[in-house]
Amino acid sequence: MTLINEFLLKNKLRISTNPCVSPDFCLDWPALSAKAMGGKAAAIVRYQRSEFETSAGRWTLFEDPATGDCGWQLDGAGNGDLLGLLSDGTAAGPARALFPATFANLLKIKNLVQERDPASTLFPTASERLGRSTLGIGARFTTLHWPGVEWAMAHLAIGMTANQNSIPRELVYDVDAMLGGRLDTVPFPFIGTSVPEGHQGQSVEGMSHGCVLSKLKTGFHRRRIAWSFNADHQPIGGKFDSREDQLVTGCVLASYITFDLSPELAQTAVPSDAGAWVKSNVPAELLASVRTRVAAAGLAINEAEFSRLVAYVWPAMKKMKRRDEKYRAAREGLFTTAVGREYLRELSIDELPGLTTPETTAVMLSLCEALGMKIHFIAPAFGFQKNMPYPDNAALKALIEKQWAVCEKFGASIGFHSGSGKSAENYQVMGRVTGQRLEIKTSGRYTYEMGRALAASKDPADKALWGDWYRFTLELALLGAFSADPTEQKMARVFVSDALAKAGKPSNVFESPAACRSALEALPASPEHMFWFEYNFLYVLAAGGRAEKAALGDHTPAGYAQRSRFYSISAEGRLHYARNVARYIVFLAETTGLSTAATCAKARARLDHYADLEALVADIGA
Ligand SMILES: [Zn+2]
Repeated sequence: MTLINEFLLKNKLRISTNPCVSPDFCLDWPALSAKAMGGKAAAIVRYQRSEFETSAGRWTLFEDPATGDCGWQLDGAGNGDLLGLLSDGTAAGPARALFPATFANLLKIKNLVQERDPASTLFPTASERLGRSTLGIGARFTTLHWPGVEWAMAHLAIGMTANQNSIPRELVYDVDAMLGGRLDTVPFPFIGTSVPEGHQGQSVEGMSHGCVLSKLKTGFHRRRIAWSFNADHQPIGGKFDSREDQLVTGCVLASYITFDLSPELAQTAVPSDAGAWVKSNVPAELLASVRTRVAAAGLAINEAEFSRLVAYVWPAMKKMKRRDEKYRAAREGLFTTAVGREYLRELSIDELPGLTTPETTAVMLSLCEALGMKIHFIAPAFGFQKNMPYPDNAALKALIEKQWAVCEKFGASIGFHSGSGKSAENYQVMGRVTGQRLEIKTSGRYTYEMGRALAASKDPADKALWGDWYRFTLELALLGAFSADPTEQKMARVFVSDALAKAGKPSNVFESPAACRSALEALPASPEHMFWFEYNFLYVLAAGGRAEKAALGDHTPAGYAQRSRFYSISAEGRLHYARNVARYIVFLAETTGLSTAATCAKARARLDHYADLEALVADIGA
C-alpha cells in the first residue's frame, strides 16, 4: 500500500469527504472488491452513464458511496486476458473483471480509450479549439466544483479549461514530499507570513483523477465535448530546478501547461554589457530569426533594449525549453496515441515587472518560435488586480489592442490572468478586441461562490460552517489590522475599511483593537465583505479552523479534518454551489462572446428550475 493511502486510512480520511488527496480513487481495494463481489453488492453504486467501450470490452465505473472508493468493472468482449489489462484485478465471472481505480490503472485506461477512439472526450485533450478560445476554471473545490463546470459546458455546448490550478502553489505536487514534511512555503505578504504550498490540500494526481471520474459519473463524456486540464503556473528555474522531475511526473494528465518564468527571472542579474553577453551566449542564427520576426510584426527594435531583454530572459527560456522536453518525453513514455500525448502551452509573462510592452510580447513569442515551442496562449500584464474590475474600459481596450496586434501575427491567443471579478464591460472588451481568441483565468471567484452557497443554505450544518468561516476571516482581519508587519497591517486595514465603507459605516476604526472589533462585529456576516473575500481560501486547510498563522496550510490530519467539513455539506449547499459556478461561467461566456446571448439566457432559465441537486446532475450527461 502506498504511504499516502496508509496515512489516509489510518486517520479515517476517506475519499467521500476528502477527495483528490491520494492520486488513487480507491484506498482499500480488498474491502471494495469484497463488497462488489459479495453479499453487499447493493451498497455499491454502478454508474450506468459511465459506460464506455475499448477493444477489450465494456467498462463501468462503480463506487462505494460510504467511503468514496471506486473501481472498474470490465465486461469482456471476447476471450482475451482481462486481468492482464490493468493491475490488481479480480475475476468476477467468466468474462468479467474488477479493478481498483488507482492512478496507475487510470493511465492505462487512457491508452485503451484513445487507441479505440481518438476523438473520445473522456480524458482532457488539446483539441484545436481549446488552444484558441477557452475559459480557465480553477477547481479549488474539486468534486464539489466539477458538476457545475460540466453543466455549463453541456448547456453552452462548448469545451473549456475545465480543470485548472497552480502547482505547487495550490495543489500538492508530490504526496510523498508532503508526508515527508518537505513542502516548501509560499510567501503571502498580505497576511505577513508564508503558508505551506499546496494550500488547498489536494494533490495534482488526485485532481487529475477526480476530474475524469466526475465526467464519467455524470455521463458528460457522452456529449463528446472536448475539455482541457491546465497545470497552471508551472514554475521554471530558480529554486524549482531541484524538483522539476517531480513537477513533470505529477502533471502527466494535464493537456495544457502554463510556463511561469518568474522563479528564474527573480535570480537573473542582467550583465552590465548585455550586448556582449548576448553575443557570446545566444546563438547568432536564433537572434537573427527573432529580429526578423519582430520586425515582420511591425515593431521596431531598439538594440540596447533588445539586448537587455534577451539577456534577462535567455537563461529562463533555456530552462523552459528543457522542461518542455521533459513534459513531452513523459507523455511519450506513458501514452501510446498522438492525441494522448498532445498538450497546449501558455507563456505567462504577467509576472515580469510593469505593464508588458508589445515589443516584449513579440520578442518572447519569437524566442519561443525559434526554440520550436508552439505557444497557444500568452499572458501579458495589463495591470489587473485580482477580483477587481479594471477601472478604465477605454484604456483597457487600447492596451489589449496593442497586445492583440502582436499576438495575432504569431497565431497566439491572449491569456488574461487574475481574470476573476472583472466587469461585464471589461470582459466584453477582451472578447471583442481578440475576436474570442482568449482565455479568462478564474479561480478565487469559486471560493467566493462557496461562501455565497453556504450563506444561502437553510441546512444547519452549512450555516454553522459559514458562520465559522466568516468568523475566521474576521479574526484574521483584526490580527492583521494591528500587526507590526507594515504590509500586513496596511492590507488588513484596506479590507476592513472597504467592508465598513460599503456598509455605510465609519471606516476609520483603528484607534484600538477593541474599537475595530466592535465595528466589525456590528456588521452582518456577508461574503461580500472584502476581508472575507481576501482571507477565505486559507480556511480550507487551517488546522482546527483556527485563525492563527501557524494553523494555515496544515497537511496533517488536523488540516484534512478541517477540509472534510466542506466535503460534508448538504445537498442543498451543493446545489447552490453548482448553480453559482455554472452561472458565473455562463456570465463569462456571454460577456466574452464565446456563447450567444440567447444560448446563455436559455441556460440561466434552466439553471433556475432545478428542485434539487439530483435534477441538476441528471441534466449534465447525454
Ligand atoms: Zn500569470
